[in-house]
Amino acid sequence: MIPSNFIYHKATSVKDAIALSETHGEEAKFMSGGHSLLPMMKLRFATPEHIIDISKIEGLSYIKEDGDLLKIGALTTQTEMEHSSLIKENYPILTDAIKLTADPSVRNVGTIGGNIAHGDAANDQPALMLAMRATIIAEGVDGKKSIPIDEFFHGFYMTALEPTDVLVEIQVPKRKKGSGGAYHKVERKVGDYATAGVAVHVELDNNGVCQEIGIGLTNVSAVPMRLDRGEELLKGKKITEDLIDQVGAIAGEDCEPTSDLRGSEAYKRSIVNTITKRMLHSALQRAKN
Ligand SMILES: Cc1cc2nc3c(=O)[nH]c(=O)nc-3n(C[C@H](O)[C@H](O)[C@H](O)COP(=O)(O)OP(=O)(O)OC[C@H]3O[C@@H](n4cnc5c(N)ncnc54)[C@H](O)[C@@H]3O)c2cc1C
Repeated sequence: MIPSNFIYHKATSVKDAIALSETHGEEAKFMSGGHSLLPMMKLRFATPEHIIDISKIEGLSYIKEDGDLLKIGALTTQTEMEHSSLIKENYPILTDAIKLTADPSVRNVGTIGGNIAHGDAANDQPALMLAMRATIIAEGVDGKKSIPIDEFFHGFYMTALEPTDVLVEIQVPKRKKGSGGAYHKVERKVGDYATAGVAVHVELDNNGVCQEIGIGLTNVSAVPMRLDRGEELLKGKKITEDLIDQVGAIAGEDCEPTSDLRGSEAYKRSIVNTITKRMLHSALQRAKN
């Protein structure tokens, strides 16, 4: 399929991108890797008249710890994250997910910023960001703003970003002693979007009591979903096998999947139940190491 006609603009800086977007209004779309946007355009689900290519803006590709935060520049590719020793050592939940995201050719170009800005509950990064309680940094006509992840996803492909906002950075709390996270998704074949996926991040104190817990679900709701009821059950307690079983059951009940060619609603609920329990075990194991 061939996209409808559009005018291509190459932004040289974030300010330039914002100015171009202001000029062309809602008919313009930013493009980073283009690996979500271009397929949508080829299917004519998106028909922007202006494409503002932000992929060559300098200074938006980095992975670093700074104070209490891990900061990832929006244009960092998924391959750069996959090969980052900082991420491999301290944030294996991210490595888990990236290895299951698409295939190397997509990961070489697709960016973390684009993955999140797309607002697609089928993408893997949103559930991770929910679990890790990320903050999204965007720059727009009125300057920079911080958007807590729980306020970021508004609906089906809808986010808190204004049309002129460039997502510039993702921040997550720096790894603490006693914390660990894990992600897994069931996919029909390598490179497919998730039939269902679960991200878990846990922080334990010296006595093994759960101080923080984040559970995010992939592709089982219209909007990337936090498992509130499961988190509430675990916070402030020692996580036992019985509690893990209860949270698995809650995840299977509270997720909102629909039957489609990846499986029936009942099948997806069952997967979510099982992966939630497995990811809780994996996250706890990593938290103890
Ligand atoms: C065959 C295939 C399989 C895939 N499988 C998976 C998978 O299993 N899991 C998964 O998570 N993803 C998957 N993807 C998506 C892939 O990871 C995308 O590359 C990624 O989601 C989007 O990143 P991008 O840089 O290409 O974004 P783009 O396509 O450039 O942009 C996506 C959207 O975000 C907006 N946008 C992009 N960057 C910014 C920014 N900095 N500020 C504001 N708005 C911005 C664009 O306007 C657009 O609306 C797959 C893609 C393909 C083609």
